[in-house]
Amino acid sequence: MTNKHRYRSLFLIFCFLLISLFLNGCARFKAYNVATERYEFILLSPEAEVSIGQDSHKSILKEYKISSDGEKQKRLNDIGKRLAGVSDQKAYDYHFFLIEKDELNAFTTPGGYVYFFTGLFDKLETDDAIASVVAHEIGHNSARHIAKKFQAALGYKIVGSIILSTVDMGGAFATQIASMSASALMNIVSASFSRQDEYEADSLSVKYMFLAGYDLNGIIESFDILMAESKGSSVPAWLRTHPFIEDRIEVVKEEIVFAPYRYKEIQKNK
Ligand SMILES: [Zn+2]
Repeated sequence: MTNKHRYRSLFLIFCFLLISLFLNGCARFKAYNVATERYEFILLSPEAEVSIGQDSHKSILKEYKISSDGEKQKRLNDIGKRLAGVSDQKAYDYHFFLIEKDELNAFTTPGGYVYFFTGLFDKLETDDAIASVVAHEIGHNSARHIAKKFQAALGYKIVGSIILSTVDMGGAFATQIASMSASALMNIVSASFSRQDEYEADSLSVKYMFLAGYDLNGIIESFDILMAESKGSSVPAWLRTHPFIEDRIEVVKEEIVFAPYRYKEIQKNK
């Protein structure tokens, strides 16, 4: 074998090893998602998401004031826990916080942290309407949309190094989050969800509302209230991060009709 051939063989072996390592790394991060019923490539483990959620919470507390109205906080908590009990993602311990702010908004951070603004909470009259927004946020969490949002915002540039090593990525992300300002963090949270993510979270909200025994019309009720608040250029904050509302209403109406047939079996086994 000439030197040239020897180098070529060594190079091919090296490439083969590199590809094997890469595929092995990918497989390590590819996990089945019960909520979306798909295998997904997500670098963050649910445990890492919880850690990011905890760090984000500290930053959020610097920016916002948690409501001191115990009665309202309890109402939110009761609704949240009832929905979390039937949700798909069991690796999280869900937390629900009412933020004192006159804004039509609610958002979620990784690891099961759901925040509701008093402005929106007070506008929604029934438990069913409140439950619909909470169920939608739980949907984004269960489907790990919010984990993907954070992952994308923090950059995929480190992906290569993670895949080829055993670095605890969750730890690295959490360290980044801990050093971020509350406003930088809110920039990630306020990035809009994609159309597919919205449909998926709506679908999951129908599922969780149905399984928890809420009136599914609460979903339409909250959509109507948010739509009525959209005047000209003033769009409620929740609709900015959760866009495509007209299309979503059409789809969700159909989902509501089929829910009793679709989720009857799961309901029986609960
Ligand atoms: Zn959404």
